[in-house]
Amino acid sequence: MSCSVRATSRRGLCWCPKRIRLDRPAAWGHRCGVSYFVTGTDTGAGKTRFSTLLVAALRAEGIDAAGFKPVCCGDRDDAVQLAAASGGLEPGQVNPVWLKASVAPLVAGMLENRPVDPIALLMATRDFIASHAEVIVEGVGGWRVPLADGYDMADFATDLGLPVIIVVGNRLGALNHTLLTVDAIRSRGLEIAGLVINHLADELDTAAITNKGIIERLTGLPILAEIIHGQDFLEVEPFLGS
Ligand SMILES: [Mg+2]
Repeated sequence: MSCSVRATSRRGLCWCPKRIRLDRPAAWGHRCGVSYFVTGTDTGAGKTRFSTLLVAALRAEGIDAAGFKPVCCGDRDDAVQLAAASGGLEPGQVNPVWLKASVAPLVAGMLENRPVDPIALLMATRDFIASHAEVIVEGVGGWRVPLADGYDMADFATDLGLPVIIVVGNRLGALNHTLLTVDAIRSRGLEIAGLVINHLADELDTAAITNKGIIERLTGLPILAEIIHGQDFLEVEPFLGS
């Protein structure tokens, strides 16, 4: 791709507001929906787990919430889980691009001669956001995973303009990964709504025990939730719009 996708998308699709707030149908209550983009400190940090819990918690509040996974690589389990949590949607409704190789989308697209089209991906995502009161968009892997030539998840998230939630895979190394991710998101001028600490194991080592407090202190960002291993619910209050 020789042209700048980001520049093209900003010229061609600049109608998207920086922060998407959509009025719900009256039947869904009175609070204003806030959609989020969910990234992780690494692949396997727990984005899908958090996103499905959040969608389920919002829907339990009577909110028309749904999850969206723009790209799946390898299996489609993330989309299956998000679709099931979204009131019984089909995986194809929440996942427009499914590449079969379990590698980054740029590489999978090259291997399958089916490169990701960023403009089509943005349009599909925005259409989905417009069709629900609140949408949780789960990114692929970490913040800078390449999607196509000259276009990565950070470009995609920037073009969407949603507030970002960072899921921290709570393990040794999470401090460094979290600080790098926070710096990178802030450099794009995006709002970081906060962090979610996802405990990856039942037993916590010293790093896992101390990470939360240190991350809070060093980033100045709120911890919106802490998910223990096997947890099947989420307190919804920190994620509700005003
Ligand atoms: Mg996932």
